[in-house]
Amino acid sequence: MKKKLKFFIVDDNKDFINLASKLLEAENHIIFSSDSSVNTLSEIIEQKPDCALLDIMMPDIDGLELCRRLRREPSLDEMKIIIVSGKTYEFDRSSAFEFGADGYITKPVDKKIFSKQILQFIKDHIHITFWGVRGTLPAPGGENIRYGGNTSCVSLEFADGNLMIFDAGTGIKALSDHLMAEKTLPIEAKIFISHPHWDHINAIPFFAPLYISGNEFEICGPSYGEYTIRELISAQMDGVFFPIKIKDFRATVNFSNLKEETFNMNRMEIRIMLLNHPGNCLGYRVQYRGRSVSYVTDNEIYPKSSRFYNEDYMNKLMDFVKDTDALITDCTYSDEDYKSKINWGHSSIGQVVDLSDRAGVKTLYLFHHEPNQTDSDIDAKLETAQVMLEQRKSRTSCIAPKEKQLFKI
Ligand SMILES: [Zn+2]
Ligand SMILES: [Zn+2]
Repeated sequence: MKKKLKFFIVDDNKDFINLASKLLEAENHIIFSSDSSVNTLSEIIEQKPDCALLDIMMPDIDGLELCRRLRREPSLDEMKIIIVSGKTYEFDRSSAFEFGADGYITKPVDKKIFSKQILQFIKDHIHITFWGVRGTLPAPGGENIRYGGNTSCVSLEFADGNLMIFDAGTGIKALSDHLMAEKTLPIEAKIFISHPHWDHINAIPFFAPLYISGNEFEICGPSYGEYTIRELISAQMDGVFFPIKIKDFRATVNFSNLKEETFNMNRMEIRIMLLNHPGNCLGYRVQYRGRSVSYVTDNEIYPKSSRFYNEDYMNKLMDFVKDTDALITDCTYSDEDYKSKINWGHSSIGQVVDLSDRAGVKTLYLFHHEPNQTDSDIDAKLETAQVMLEQRKSRTSCIAPKEKQLFKI
């Protein structure tokens, strides 16, 4: 049985209070309400609900102001606030989040999904989905059915609908199919490219949402020498290598050159680090409300015994992934195979286990597998990693995600 939650609804529209109460009571939740915002602050403090649902347009104190005042109350730190309003303007939506709201739902509410939407905002999970886990070259069929043969693509989806996509290997085609089937238009997302090697960019032309007017994308990634990220992406769509050009995109598509930097966006902090790989390759760390996901591929970690080992780089990398909840990282080779692949720009399983354990990573996600490795080879890498972590009595756990697998953190 699901845990019952206590809600407090503030709305001057009694019909809405009745409707929302009915929908939430059907899920066994407990409802308190008020049709005036005048004395609600003290009532909410007294009731200490798990979640307050606030309308915006109310005659006395409007919902955004009430939200701001509730957020100043230390005894309500744990309480979630969701705005449920008829106002559909982006300005009101972003103001609500600025004032400390955890969610925003527009009226009229969809009765079928209302309770589910509310719970999604309360849980506030980050959904990590793996669309392609291979490195270097797609490896379809045969003995690669379980983990899948598509190249790098991972998405992060947040309760407020914010979508981030990391890399555009052939896995992005499955994400494209998913978005076209599931998501209502318009689709907005930021696409972060680690670097412009084929296995990280070459399925961009197959991402169908780019061809739909009204959708909005920002493709971000490293420049290289005099080439901007826009030029790096458009070069593979110049008419010779692919018949459709980027000017045929119907969505609004902006490009941003990224470097080693830190910036804030949509209530999160993005940290970027240059990785040890031929050319400019960026690792990303997304920090959101006490949780973090680190996407670090492609990257070569030299063993300590190697003459290429660089203590400064290792310290910087350790700090970058320190205590992260999810480290998605390049573990292309087994330790044995790595011996003949030194300076190919990729890591072996032993090195990523060592990094994860020492940096206090919560979960290590094995990623960017060598295309010749079969499902059983990946099983073997996973087992090796788990044995190593057990021997170290590590608190890091290790997973080898499969294509289309979803994790919530
Ligand atoms: Zn790669
Ligand atoms: Zn690469």
